[in-house]
Amino acid sequence: MEKTILRARVLTFHRAPFGLEDGVLKEGGAFTYLEDGGITLSGGHVTALGDFSTMETSGETSGAQVIDHRPHLILPGFIDTHIHYVQSQILASYAGSLLEWLETYTFLEEQKFASPDHAARISSCFFDELVRHGTTTAVAYGSVHAASVDAFFAEAERRNLRMICGKVMMDREAPDALRDTAQSSYDDSKSLIDRWHGRGRGLYAITPRFAITSTPAQLEAAGALLAAHPDCYLQTHLGENAEEIRYSQDLYPEAPDYTGIYEAFGLLGPRSLLGHCIHLTDREIGVLAETKSVAVFCPTSNLFLGSGLFDRAGLQAQGVRIGIATDVGGGTNFGLLRTLDEGYKVLQLRGERMDPFQSFHMATRGNAEALGLSDRVGSIAPGMEADLVVLDARATPAMALRMETVSTLAEELFLLQTMGDDRAVVETYGGGRPLKSGRTRP
Ligand SMILES: [Zn+2]
Repeated sequence: MEKTILRARVLTFHRAPFGLEDGVLKEGGAFTYLEDGGITLSGGHVTALGDFSTMETSGETSGAQVIDHRPHLILPGFIDTHIHYVQSQILASYAGSLLEWLETYTFLEEQKFASPDHAARISSCFFDELVRHGTTTAVAYGSVHAASVDAFFAEAERRNLRMICGKVMMDREAPDALRDTAQSSYDDSKSLIDRWHGRGRGLYAITPRFAITSTPAQLEAAGALLAAHPDCYLQTHLGENAEEIRYSQDLYPEAPDYTGIYEAFGLLGPRSLLGHCIHLTDREIGVLAETKSVAVFCPTSNLFLGSGLFDRAGLQAQGVRIGIATDVGGGTNFGLLRTLDEGYKVLQLRGERMDPFQSFHMATRGNAEALGLSDRVGSIAPGMEADLVVLDARATPAMALRMETVSTLAEELFLLQTMGDDRAVVETYGGGRPLKSGRTRP
């Protein structure tokens, strides 16, 4: 089998860092950093990681194609735990807050996905953007149309990327053209699961949009699907905006709170990804921790829609699992670098800190753990799927100028997240193949 060795500086995390000092030098440190590393790729997987000079001495490099990415830095490919691929053309739409934004732009835009041709074209453009920004795994929302999800997975398969997606279930509080029914949403989701879940690198997420747009009968159908397919994900939105919370509770007056709605229909659990989780009561936080559900932090979206400031430290202190995500198109950028930057600023406004090691852990292994996929993606080690990003901290003149005064890895990472964007992504490897430089659009 063909063997490729990537030579570069390499950073990969083993667990969440406690702070800036929690590094490689100590036994059991949070990460491995190799100044002159070699990553051997074969059959779409990483087969070895080590010092390049040692690989040379031991003969590991003989017969291999060596790609020299020095002086750049290789990390595991970025993972995005919440993104609406069908909103790729409504980023930067001028709106006040969540419900206005949904009605004015989103619900019009998503109607276009009734056309399979449109879905195919946007899927292709969407994956181009992910690859351009170094993202190799994403958890995506389709539209209400099953064909939108077919188009997504077909494109993911063409590019051999590990992707998660689901058809939005919504049977009320939306235009007629975007409404399904409890029964049809069950049937469509079920056949999509049969078609795509576990096929190649695809995984399915059962996707009731949020409590407002689902009748109790539909949330019950979502709960039944999840019970029948416990290895699928469940994704929805929770506690994003005051008006949304009030309206949800009006529609479900018997629930003790917003989280209680999802709780009552069996939608919470270790594979449940809840976008936003900004405004939660102590009881709700306790329920998320108890059910091991994941609260997904979407900083660019939360700032853009003025939704509020995510309380990372508060949720973590209560034992809630956390992921980070772009939430395009409420979010304003396809990439994790811009997302980490805005995340840092949101936490600053709360008086919380997120150091650069914690940031890059979150965007890679942390998000893989949130998805229960850390045995396959999110770090660089033998046996892991070969999804990688190559980063250049001197990508722009301003970054190069700043790099003149940078002397530590932590400083370089912080510069990358604060000043970097898709220009800092030199290459993205998916399943061992370079996808950015060799990117082709059908
Ligand atoms: Zn969202």
